[in-house]
Amino acid sequence: MICLTTTENTLTKALKQVERNKSYIDMVELRLDLLEEGELASAQIFPRLCALPTIATYRRVCDGGKSQMSDKARMTNLRKIVLQGDFSYVDIEEDVKKSDLKIKGEEDSPKYDFENELKQKGIKIIRSFHDMEKLPANLFSLVTKLAKKGDIPKVAVTPNTIIDVVTLFKMNEELKDIKEKIIIGMGDFGVCTRILYKKVGSMLTFASEDEIAPGQLSAKTLKLLYKADQVNNRTNVYGIIGNPVLHTASPMIHNPGFEAIHYNAIYVPFLVDKVRGFFKLAELIKIHGFSVTVPHKRDVLPYLGKITREVKQIGACNTVTRIQGMWKGTNTDYYGFLAPIEKEINDGKIKSALIVGAGGASRAVVWALRNHHVKVTIANRTLEKAKLLASETMSNYIELEDLSSLSSSVDLVVQTTIVGMTPNEDADILEDFTFENPCIVYDLVYKPRYTKLLKRAKKANCKVINGSDMLISQGKLQFESFSGYHYPHWINLNL
Ligand code: NAP
Repeated sequence: MICLTTTENTLTKALKQVERNKSYIDMVELRLDLLEEGELASAQIFPRLCALPTIATYRRVCDGGKSQMSDKARMTNLRKIVLQGDFSYVDIEEDVKKSDLKIKGEEDSPKYDFENELKQKGIKIIRSFHDMEKLPANLFSLVTKLAKKGDIPKVAVTPNTIIDVVTLFKMNEELKDIKEKIIIGMGDFGVCTRILYKKVGSMLTFASEDEIAPGQLSAKTLKLLYKADQVNNRTNVYGIIGNPVLHTASPMIHNPGFEAIHYNAIYVPFLVDKVRGFFKLAELIKIHGFSVTVPHKRDVLPYLGKITREVKQIGACNTVTRIQGMWKGTNTDYYGFLAPIEKEINDGKIKSALIVGAGGASRAVVWALRNHHVKVTIANRTLEKAKLLASETMSNYIELEDLSSLSSSVDLVVQTTIVGMTPNEDADILEDFTFENPCIVYDLVYKPRYTKLLKRAKKANCKVINGSDMLISQGKLQFESFSGYHYPHWINLNL
């Protein structure tokens, strides 16, 4: 189930929020602590009006909410609202004292046992535990303890490493006897657990309307892009590892592709600090293949049983697939870079090239061009790196300050640094290069789609190629490695 957490301060606005998301969600969490005080008197009508199973949650500040009341006062308010309405669930933190749940009624009336009243009304208690900083050491026994009274245990905890993420995924198997449980990994490392909530063993995942905080996913993204609620035992898991990784556009290539060929598979971003930990996760949840981005393209090499000639030459791998119990590494950056200029290369129109940058992407570019007999000159901020790559690939190198000397003599210019990337869109590492002869100008940056360099080159009548073209080409090749099918030609990728 995908559960939308309301973020509005009035019931009317919260209902509108539900209405906007209705086709993506199965249930709603009404956050009472976010509502204006005057709204609470009518909050009981919310479940009937939104017509979806609703959780009533009155979250404290220490658990990431806004309520500053004492637990006693908070539980008294919660009781008034919940018992008058048609809520399906109520969230009560695990450390609320028994005595705070025995609520005194008006004037002379007796003490009420809130938990008993909820049970009699058929409202399920979600017994929740939050840790906004880490994973507690006793996580498994904690969940078992929370489930003991027949309540639904909920743990919302914060993984800080990929090994923490492995612990969360282990809960599915270790605690499989607890059928109804909620497990949430918060923060950036937890994103994969929110998408693959079914593989963690969680009965639901929480979503917001907008992706306002790190680690949050919108209901629309979970439902339409990831189809998170359709994951089952037969779903093959793919993904991308990197650090950072959450900005990646790759899920927008692979997930629609899988859907189009009716392949029961999902492609998920995994924030990874140490590659070794990720390979543990890959074995645990049987990941079938993954893309690799900065800074792990070299780190994965020791784990690969088989590599292609390009991976060996470049010394970096961006695609890993599981083949006959072994991890195989390929480099689709190499072919993805070549795809948009394949015709010009085959027609012999590119004989010389200037490559700016000497990082990981540049290595793939330089090797791809050298293997096609193009004469390459490399420029880089750190000259030593340009020299090193040049000597490895039998190319030339040049100081960045001297780039203009090549203005009229190269057929292709490739920009492989991060200069010009959002938010630094005004930067242009080739600003002294004047395009005296129209040539092909290729910028690997894909955000923005057209960098300052490409706009300038276009004005000078050069043919321009942007990073999206390469991103899509390399992504389609990865898709073939993952699924064994060509990328569906009818999908119009506009990244
Ligand atoms: P990398 O290995 O970290 O290399 C970064 C390169 O940028 C180095 O040459 C570095 O120079 C240079 N650089 C960084 N900051 C600079 C600055 N302020 N001024 C001048 N030079 C600077 O990264 P990478 O993997 O090669 O990726 C580089 C770019 O290519 C990124 O924008 C990435 O998104 C893009 N890329 C795109 C695709 C695609 O499909 N479109 C695929 C791969 C990569 P130093 O050596 O002096 O540090």
